Amino acid sequence: MNVYEKAVSELRDSRREALDSAHLAWQTAVSKNDALYAAFCAYQEQMIAAARNKPNTLAAEELNLKSAITASGFDLSTFSPPYACEKCKDTGKVDGKYCRCVIRRVIKADRGNLAMSPVDFESAEKSAPTAAIKKAYGLAREYVSSRAAKPFFVIIGTPGTGKTYLAAAILGAAMARGEATVAVTAFDFVRRALDYHTQFSIPDYIDRFTPMLDCDLLVIDDLGTESMLKNVTREYLYTVINERWKSGKRTVITSNLTPSELNARYGENIFSRMCDTSRAVLLSVDAKNTRLKPI
Ligand SMILES: [Zn+2]
Repeated sequence: MNVYEKAVSELRDSRREALDSAHLAWQTAVSKNDALYAAFCAYQEQMIAAARNKPNTLAAEELNLKSAITASGFDLSTFSPPYACEKCKDTGKVDGKYCRCVIRRVIKADRGNLAMSPVDFESAEKSAPTAAIKKAYGLAREYVSSRAAKPFFVIIGTPGTGKTYLAAAILGAAMARGEATVAVTAFDFVRRALDYHTQFSIPDYIDRFTPMLDCDLLVIDDLGTESMLKNVTREYLYTVINERWKSGKRTVITSNLTPSELNARYGENIFSRMCDTSRAVLLSVDAKNTRLKPI
């Protein structure tokens, strides 16, 4: 069974378990409470009438039943548990495709998706080493807390300015919000792309490329340090950047390269999307002058 089918069956199992325990709770409540039992019988009678297409007062009896449940001190959700995912109603599929909740579940379950350890945003912000990086945390805070924020967060600058740590803090904040996250180094990115590209030769291949397209938040750390493999690096980077740019998915990129170096290395197609100011927060942190400036 592939990981997606496994996640679907886990989702369906937990729905079944939730329904079973709701049913048990209901049986216990009804057996102990006459008013509830009477309201339920009346409701059932009308259900049967409705099923036989006979005149009925089902809607009214349903309301009565709900009032009897709350009047008995129960929460309605105890007996009819809400779906974990309204979109697929816990079936795991929508229009024959895996629901987003299943994809997120698969990404979260794979520990191999985190090449860097997430750090606590608050404490990272407090210990920010320079004024410039402190200011960057302010912008990152907006980025992680506002759904309306621009989806790309690109931070460049000289080595040792705390860019990676900032990325790890953004990652930590996203994970704390329950988002499905993937964090890779640029080196790791190329390895995943290469594995995907040559998957026919890899026994027990696990697809770690597609999660970079599907996840809620992707971090690519240290862009520019990876090998430029023919037909792989630029091509797959373009796929990821373009897909995430088109769908407005949040993507954090750190690099020691300057904008013109990024442009020269990756080409206009990638650079123009990654650094599209209508969709990206672009920052340049300079350690010497502790300045923070938009690119
Ligand atoms: Zn779903």
